[in-house]
Amino acid sequence: MLRATYIRGPIIFRSLFVLPSLRFPPLRNMSHRPLQTLLNANEEWAQTVVKDTPDFFARSATCQNPKILWIGCSDSRVPESIITASKPGDIFVHRNVANQFHLHDDSALSVLSFAVKEVGVEHVVLVGHTNCGGAMACIEAAKVAATNPSASNPLTRWLSPLTALVRSLDLSACSANEALNKVVKANIIKQVDNICKSEPITTAWADPHAKKVTVHGWMYDLAEGRIKELVVRDSQA
Ligand SMILES: [Zn+2]
Repeated sequence: MLRATYIRGPIIFRSLFVLPSLRFPPLRNMSHRPLQTLLNANEEWAQTVVKDTPDFFARSATCQNPKILWIGCSDSRVPESIITASKPGDIFVHRNVANQFHLHDDSALSVLSFAVKEVGVEHVVLVGHTNCGGAMACIEAAKVAATNPSASNPLTRWLSPLTALVRSLDLSACSANEALNKVVKANIIKQVDNICKSEPITTAWADPHAKKVTVHGWMYDLAEGRIKELVVRDSQA
């Protein structure tokens, strides 16, 4: 009975026989079924990793040495490790709605500072993507009169710099899709500019003995699954 409840699909079914230690207790609430699927998949993944590389988790637990900081959108369709076939430990990550890097955002600044000064990343990649819901919302918000950001909700406040950027663009001759792509690209360039103005980067670039750090602006195409580089900045730029 327990086994029948546990089976979710062909992969899990197979794993019951191939990986006998796979026994995650079923969650009682049916609305938690998606979580059960994640927990089962995690158990199977961990066992597969150990099978391929027995000391992977033991080594991973002691330190990290990623060369890349990824600053991207929270969108579920742009999971950095999956779309770049990366492993745990390969990428240091910060994600938020519409891949923003605000110069007064302590969350993003602390990630960048730690990544550059302590972890020693060599590349910072700011990654936007096509069909970004945050960019779409800003295009709509820019059509109405500007409101006081302090009186709005958190998401409106968060996106107010991007809404201001949209207002600065001439989108009058663009189709809706062209306008969205133009905003996504302008947003990537703007956030790269902000990263380059931030203290961790300006300090690193001013120190000839500091580790070389390069800042990149990338755009991920949801419909193609491909990344394109839009801009690269370094201490010489
Ligand atoms: Zn997005």
